[in-house]
Amino acid sequence: MAVPISQMATVASYVIKKRLGGNKRYPLVLMLEPLFRCNLACAGCGKVQYPPHILKKMLTPEECFAAMDECGAPMVSLPGGEPLLHPQIVEIVNGLIARRKYIYLCTNALELKRRLPEFTPSKYLTFSVHLDGQREHHDFSVCREGGYDIAVEGIKEAVRRGFRVTTNATFFDGTDPNSVRGFFDEVMDMGVEGIVLSPGYSYDKAPDQNRFMGRARVRRLFRAALSNRKKSWKFNMSPLFLEFLMGDRHYECTPWGSPAYNIFGWQRPCYLLQDGYTETFKELLETTKWEEYGAASGNPKCANCMVSCGYEPTAVMDGFGSLKGFWGMVRGTFSSYKDEHALRLLNQPAPHGPATLVQIERPAHELEETRA
Ligand code: SF4
Ligand code: SF4
Repeated sequence: MAVPISQMATVASYVIKKRLGGNKRYPLVLMLEPLFRCNLACAGCGKVQYPPHILKKMLTPEECFAAMDECGAPMVSLPGGEPLLHPQIVEIVNGLIARRKYIYLCTNALELKRRLPEFTPSKYLTFSVHLDGQREHHDFSVCREGGYDIAVEGIKEAVRRGFRVTTNATFFDGTDPNSVRGFFDEVMDMGVEGIVLSPGYSYDKAPDQNRFMGRARVRRLFRAALSNRKKSWKFNMSPLFLEFLMGDRHYECTPWGSPAYNIFGWQRPCYLLQDGYTETFKELLETTKWEEYGAASGNPKCANCMVSCGYEPTAVMDGFGSLKGFWGMVRGTFSSYKDEHALRLLNQPAPHGPATLVQIERPAHELEETRA
């Protein structure tokens, strides 16, 4: 595992305190979306399809800090949209660092190299660069030729300047596990701290509805890609969550572990679904019918979901919540997951063949942003 000890210790003591305090539901990572606007239009994205008047809106730094203070999670993810398009993103990041929160600023890195001089390296700040596989796969996924090369340039510059950098990949149906393994090699050679990965969620709003996987195919892909690991691969994720993706563990979703706040308020129940909003975090926790979500609930919107924002908090709480869980985490960190069956999977074609290219029209607002 690639997470630094100081960050692990902060999260571990937070989880232990919450458990000793008898808290049943508590947040681990605030998903703070300062805006939905982006300079890409990826086919699997469920965020950039809002009408222009919504895409123009942004959270102020004060609103971001108030949400952070209200929920109290030790970590914060800044997804979007593209956070680097927010004119006050540096102020937001600095304010969160002052609060000693571990920040993952998620970016497609089109603007990263240009904006880096405005940020200061800190153990609290990680640039989490969206990179969906090797060059051809990433460019296909983000519907932008040349996107991979720009992102890699940004990654290398951020590493050179001493920033913490991870890559963040979402994988869709038809992904070749051999290519995923090649991607792990490439990314580690760039000098990043670790890799973050997740299967795509089947957003209703995503333009391409044919690229999402059911649970069986998710497990097949991740079993093939993550078994027989190389020592050089580092993952910035709970090893227990990776075991869940590989089909070795059963977990239920804990959507309150990664609550989402954006221009509409606190989003019910999670970063992915929009079943209404609340004004306060307390109201979100106390009035959401949590039993109506997660795979076990029978809710069709959750049936195929295995994404990190729902299931990684479960894995982290399991890992730091009991000796058995902690031992599983230690064992997972050092295991290569030897698996003959997984080796054979690498030689079989994907059940649905390779994914086909979908061209998505780039929105007019993107042109405005790239001129800025
Ligand atoms: S980079 Fe792609 S997935 Fe991320 S917000 Fe922009 S359009 Fe959506
Ligand atoms: S299963 Fe997925 S979509 Fe459903 S509540 Fe959990 S994270 Fe959200």
